[in-house]
Amino acid sequence: MHLRQADLIDFAFNHASIGMAIVSLEGRFIQVNRALCELIGYNERELLSMNFMSIIQHDDAEEHRECFNQLACREVEAFHTEKRCVHKQGQMVWCMIVTSLVFNEKGEPIFLFAQFHDITANKLTELAQKEVAAVLKEKEESLRILMEELPLAVLITQNGVCKYLNAAALELIEADSAERYLGTSTNEIVDPCDHEKLHERRRKYRHGEKMGSVKYKVNCYNGDTKYVEGISIPATYCGERAVIGVFQDITERKKEEERMLHSEKLSICGQLAAGVAHEIRNPLTSINGFIKLMRTLKHEKDQYYDIIEAELKSIEIICNELLLLAKPSVMTRTKTDIVRVLEQVIALMSVQATLKNCAIVAAYPQEAIWLSCDPNQIKQVFLNIIKNAIEAMHGGGNIHIDLTIHGEYAHISIQDEGCGIPPDKLQMLGQPFYTTKESGTGLGLMVSYNIIDNHGGSMSVESVPDQGTTFTISLPIMESADLY
Ligand code: ADP
Ligand code: MG
Repeated sequence: MHLRQADLIDFAFNHASIGMAIVSLEGRFIQVNRALCELIGYNERELLSMNFMSIIQHDDAEEHRECFNQLACREVEAFHTEKRCVHKQGQMVWCMIVTSLVFNEKGEPIFLFAQFHDITANKLTELAQKEVAAVLKEKEESLRILMEELPLAVLITQNGVCKYLNAAALELIEADSAERYLGTSTNEIVDPCDHEKLHERRRKYRHGEKMGSVKYKVNCYNGDTKYVEGISIPATYCGERAVIGVFQDITERKKEEERMLHSEKLSICGQLAAGVAHEIRNPLTSINGFIKLMRTLKHEKDQYYDIIEAELKSIEIICNELLLLAKPSVMTRTKTDIVRVLEQVIALMSVQATLKNCAIVAAYPQEAIWLSCDPNQIKQVFLNIIKNAIEAMHGGGNIHIDLTIHGEYAHISIQDEGCGIPPDKLQMLGQPFYTTKESGTGLGLMVSYNIIDNHGGSMSVESVPDQGTTFTISLPIMESADLY
């Protein structure tokens, strides 16, 4: 079969997947293709009785008419518009309409050729995206208002750099505007003494670990220092990963705590001073007495010297223990293998124990357990407690020493088979000068509790009268990251 060119054009027109129409210069449909009929739901006959403008949605029609007139007046030769067409069923069909003039051989316009590209799916996605963006923007806006009005200080950071400070935050750091701080590192606000904490929290954030609450010392714009407490949570700010920190000023609370601690310290000092005076007065009285006696007797007796010497010795012991008590504030921490320390103490005390019919039975792991501590102070604690254990077993017995690991802590238990401690006396342990021994100082346990406390550990005691006592010391093990 031989097809003419016009037939071919007709065929292409009718079978195109894009909606097409030939429209008169007045706007009437002259010819429409199948795809256009399908696109807007009218059949060919119906469309041919309609006007181009009548299928355009009312709101868009005016603009479209203008373009159409420009075409008809030959001001332009083609135009592209995105318009909503109305489907026969009433729904909107988004179309990209390309309309162009068609000319005869003489160069006169004879009709318009219009193509309708269906862009409904794209348009709907675009609209949905716009809607989501608008909702997000609205949410961000309400969050911003909330943060601005919040009486708590809010700080938003990205990679440790300040991006936003609310009014309360500015008030807290005594700054008039955020400008000085925006774009600077939080290191500038947090005091250098807490930079370690800050870095640790940044590390946790990077590893997706929970950051929890924190206390910082902060430096204000006017040079004052304050204390804050707060929490940080991961968030998104301006489309990027960020951290929102919410803080409150605890400077007053901290000062109050310090005042209380100070008065507590003062009362302990008073207690100690009274105790020391009392403890030293006795040996001094007897020294005094013997010197007077020696003076009247005119001749010296060795025996009196012995007594004077013994009394001076007891003054010395009290003074030494008191000095130890003062020491924890200047302790020097080093990386220490607690197993070695315990071995040395046991070697040191074994002889003394054997002399008193006691045996030390120890069980500890072979490999090193590293603590960050002052080894001499920890040794002092073990010595005090083992010494007490020996002294509690008048008829001899066993002292069991066990070293085990419980999570991030090393537990050292020292168990004796001695006289035990009556329940009502348990809370007296650790109080200065509480002793039940004739030659005791009542300072050993107080010093020990202090040392353990200064090392971030704890000490507990369980005791059954006539059966024995167990002291358990718990000390934090060094984190593996700090070991090397
Ligand atoms: P000191 O040993 O000089 O008396 P400490 O502070 O070491 O002072 O001990 C205080 C008191 O606690 C002791 O006098 C004793 O009554 C009691 N105590 C301590 N350890 C034991 C123990 N293992 N068994 C029984 N009592 C103990
Ligand atoms: Mg003691």
